[in-house]
Amino acid sequence: MNLGKIVGVNGNLLTVEFEKPVIQNEVGFARLGDIHLKAEVIRIRGRHAELQVFEDTTGLKVGDQVEFTGSLLSVELGPGLLTQVFDGLQNPLPALAEECGFFLQRGKYIKPLPRDVKWAFTPLVKAGATVLAGDAVGQVPEGIFAHKIMVPFRLSGRLTVKFVAGAGEFTVEDTVAVVVDDKDREHEVKLMQVWPVKMPIKCYAERLRPTEPLATSQRIVDTFFPVARGGTYCIPGPFGAGKTVLQQITSRHADVDVVIIAACGERAGEVVETLREFPELTDPKTGKSLMERTVIICNTSSMPVAAREASVYTGVTLAEYYRQMGLDVLLLADSTSRWAQALREMSGRLEEIPGEEAFPAYLESVIAAFYERGGVVRLHNDETGSVTIGGTVSPAGGNFEEPVTQATLKVVGAFHGLSRARSDARRYPAIDPLESWSKYTSVVDVDELVQARHFLREGSEVGQMMKVVGEEGTSIDDFMVYLKGEYLDAVYLQQNAFNDVDAATPVDRQKHVFGFIARFLKTTLKFEDKDTARSFFHKLTQATRDWNQLAFDSDEFKKQQEQLDHQIAEVTSYD
Ligand code: ADP
Ligand code: MG
Repeated sequence: MNLGKIVGVNGNLLTVEFEKPVIQNEVGFARLGDIHLKAEVIRIRGRHAELQVFEDTTGLKVGDQVEFTGSLLSVELGPGLLTQVFDGLQNPLPALAEECGFFLQRGKYIKPLPRDVKWAFTPLVKAGATVLAGDAVGQVPEGIFAHKIMVPFRLSGRLTVKFVAGAGEFTVEDTVAVVVDDKDREHEVKLMQVWPVKMPIKCYAERLRPTEPLATSQRIVDTFFPVARGGTYCIPGPFGAGKTVLQQITSRHADVDVVIIAACGERAGEVVETLREFPELTDPKTGKSLMERTVIICNTSSMPVAAREASVYTGVTLAEYYRQMGLDVLLLADSTSRWAQALREMSGRLEEIPGEEAFPAYLESVIAAFYERGGVVRLHNDETGSVTIGGTVSPAGGNFEEPVTQATLKVVGAFHGLSRARSDARRYPAIDPLESWSKYTSVVDVDELVQARHFLREGSEVGQMMKVVGEEGTSIDDFMVYLKGEYLDAVYLQQNAFNDVDAATPVDRQKHVFGFIARFLKTTLKFEDKDTARSFFHKLTQATRDWNQLAFDSDEFKKQQEQLDHQIAEVTSYD
């Protein structure tokens, strides 16, 4: 046993003197009587290791012992992850609560995957087959999926299947196959494997460019600032602007197989709310509980900041695991600022030379490495899988110039900046259409998109001008641009999360409605005065919003469109 002695305690940072070698990111347990507190080695200097403890360290003192485990901070991967709610260390929260009562106790760790459940295994390879790490040797049904049982990711080179079990019932710890490496060493394959969270799973043939759009069902996103399958995006925004709500909507409607939510709540009770609400939601795709294709990882408020870091890495590792099965996975991290604050706190305790705003100098590389784990990959069997990462950022005062937002913007493929002005005006989702951007391909026609952007920008400029010179000082042509921009905003960018139909707009409907609006924006309208124009736009906006709430394939939808065409034709000039 590798034991060390605590020589310093500073908050949840321990300095430990060791005898036998320890490794970076190795897990150690600080012994406080019978309670063993989980910690991770984050720096080694000479004979001293520094460990961040994932729990409250009250009571630990100099002279207490730390037991080093020799294993890196890891997660269990296997059937039984879906539907679960874990904390950052992958403890199943409901089971933890059951064991501890309402107040979670320190030092309680529960196995993430149930050991007693039997899974119906079906082999996919025969003895004698050649496989690589990450290739499937069999599968078990898990909810709506066939969960692939894969050759342990840690193995390398070509492996020969020596044995594979026939169809039957197995627990996660049973051996279902044996593979032999080129040095004739045998390795067991079980339904579960263990993998270190800070190491990307790289058992694929190649990384591909993220080119295929990932429909989120939010019009302003898919049409104006699209997300790609395997891409990355961030949602910075001031407190209360709607980051969490937007991610919740996305988690329900995004066109992916699996959703992993890594929640470090900003508000006390927010996480509890998520936990209470989520299991009651139905999956729009399957009609079953949304939890069947979801894993939630959340920090409990009783855990210190180091656990936030663990949540983020646990989340992305689970996402990579499902990608390896050829699935499309969406990882939503809320809020990455909380995680960055944790890094800052630890860096301060380590007395490292601080960078901007006291964040560690390596903040950028840590953030870049995290988003780098997103991506679409071609597996050895030519199937593709993807991890799309969306992270919220909550800069103090909504100031996007701060280090976390800036570091994130450097690496992501799309930026959905929420604006206080828009959320105050209840223009939801409050994504700023003038500030935001995306490098990915939209689902609509490019020329029409350019035109729409023009109206948003010019319309907003006229709006600003009007605040100064008044409506009288604005020409009727400028006023028309302003009204068209406002119309596009009101009926397309804004989306009513509380109306069943409007809450989620599929891509074919977006194309149809956007095409309609694009044609309207091109028309020349004949208005003699601004009052008539304003009242026309008021009615048209109302009617279009009603249209947005009708089922796409219904007769009412067609009729309402005819109504709209008619309204527009009456005021269109053809000269
Ligand atoms: P943040 O995570 O940015 O701090 P939230 O997502 O918690 O903010 O949103 C704060 C509040 O704003 C919500 O409780 C809700 O009342 C309102 N809100 C946010 N987004 C929407 C939306 N799409 N539709 C209606 N209300 C919203
Ligand atoms: Mg929030």
